[in-house]
Amino acid sequence: EVDKMVLKERPNVRFEDVGGLTVVKEELATVVLALKNPGIFTRGGTHPPRGVLLYGEPGVGKTLVAKALAREADADIYVVRIGDVLHSLYGKTERVIQSVFDRANENGACVIYIDEFDALASHRDKSNEVTSRIVSVLLTNMDGLEERGKNIIVVGATNRLDAIDTALLRPGRFDLTIEVPLPTEPERADIFSIHMKKANVIADSQLFEDEFDMSALARRSNHFSGADIAEVIRRTLVKRVRAISEGKDPGHVKVQDVIEQVERHREFLEKRKQSGSTGQYI
Ligand code: ATP
Repeated sequence: EVDKMVLKERPNVRFEDVGGLTVVKEELATVVLALKNPGIFTRGGTHPPRGVLLYGEPGVGKTLVAKALAREADADIYVVRIGDVLHSLYGKTERVIQSVFDRANENGACVIYIDEFDALASHRDKSNEVTSRIVSVLLTNMDGLEERGKNIIVVGATNRLDAIDTALLRPGRFDLTIEVPLPTEPERADIFSIHMKKANVIADSQLFEDEFDMSALARRSNHFSGADIAEVIRRTLVKRVRAISEGKDPGHVKVQDVIEQVERHREFLEKRKQSGSTGQYI
């Protein structure tokens, strides 16, 4: 059951594959150090961080940067989708969390990533017996890490910092709280170029025309998250694949092809905002 719910991975993304998020990566560099060499903190007269809380809007790269953190530290990552666990294993959830720690304890350095952390740690749920039992399993395990000399970091991610019980944010718990913001204009250019390079690597050829005007893309994609940008590039390439399947020679991708998808995606985002829906367009 745990294997179905909790994905263990040795990620292959590095900090350089995460666009923008300079401050986030700087802060996480300390966590890399804690995973690689926890003793250095003790020698420095302090404690390594044990819990990190990443907060920001959906799609800004919280999961991506947590995977890159693990990769930079040569560590495994356990991704716990707590919403799914709560939903399907209601009542057994704390055992799932305990067994993740048991497995992590048998391992070398690792990151335990808990998505939708607010579902677990909401102060509005204080009366909820299940969630408070899970939180206590989490905290008991985190408390013991230092004495056991374990280099395990728990990373919680949420879109709703306001919903997190402040008791969890005390020193020695999730004491490193990092905002993961929407990308700025130059950061969006950076994210576009990361996803274009990734596509070139997959295709093993240069798909995009020379002298691609990244700044035009960055300007037009105001308020887009990294996930929105990845989706725009994916849609541009899917359109190109369709042309190939119809026997046409699509040539290189032009900046105008991407702009077309940026505009389409913007309309979709606006419609979604108006309707309050979270659905996907087809
Ligand atoms: P959620 O809150 O919905 O779980 P999230 O913040 O964890 O979202 P991710 O799952 O990390 O977001 O992002 C989804 C995808 O969007 C990533 O796999 C990646 O392709 C792309 N992406 C997001 N942010 C970035 C970024 N800063 N640089 C490059 N790609 C990004």
